[in-house]
Amino acid sequence: MISCKCVVCRSKNPRNKRLRASLLVETQGKSFLMDTSPDLRQQALKYKITHIDAVLITHPHADHVGGLDEIRSYNFIQKQRIPLYGHDWTLRELKVRFDYIFQPTYIEGGGVAQIDLHEFDINEDSFEVQGVKIVPLELKHGSASVAGFRIGSFAYMTDCNFIPETTLKKLNGIETIILDCLRMTKHGTHFCFEEALDSARRIGAKRTYFTHLSHDFDYQKHSRALPKKTYFAYDGLIIKA
Ligand SMILES: [Zn+2]
Ligand SMILES: [Zn+2]
Ligand SMILES: [Zn+2]
Repeated sequence: MISCKCVVCRSKNPRNKRLRASLLVETQGKSFLMDTSPDLRQQALKYKITHIDAVLITHPHADHVGGLDEIRSYNFIQKQRIPLYGHDWTLRELKVRFDYIFQPTYIEGGGVAQIDLHEFDINEDSFEVQGVKIVPLELKHGSASVAGFRIGSFAYMTDCNFIPETTLKKLNGIETIILDCLRMTKHGTHFCFEEALDSARRIGAKRTYFTHLSHDFDYQKHSRALPKKTYFAYDGLIIKA
């Protein structure tokens, strides 16, 4: 946290150095970026992300879409427009906040990101992105609905404080989950530690990784307190699912 002097913020352990939540999924020869965090440029440079076939957005909060402009680099590298998938809330907000990208009258000289918007219904069984089956998972983030994504036996479920019954049904047979876990004390729109543990237990995946972690969590100290099959995610973590 900016200006914080707590032990986690001052820690030298790289696993306590957290940029904003996002991930790259490589499957069936495709690379899908889930969320364009404000740290996207730094993340892409550090982890050498050289190609993106499509972007999937969970929801339009600033910490998940603030890096949208960086897609411009992939337009240059790949010499093509990049498709972006989001539900109605996401697309509505992106068009307002990034009007210079999505309203051609504002574009001068073509220097902005070239992005094609595709809407999915958060409650549909599945949709396809370049031959890959994506199962959208409705998650409650306070009163708002956020999209989680299931691909095969893997699911990404960030930013939520409640998982609806219909979504739990869609998680049948799931093996690997990345799940929201913001802080120790209860929060209005995110799972706290106890709630995240409880949901992980209820879903019963082989492995659950907690993400969107605040400075409440010291990687080493709190990892020791985790029950079996649960882990803290960290920047640069690679999971083979
Ligand atoms: Zn701190
Ligand atoms: Zn959010
Ligand atoms: Zn967030």
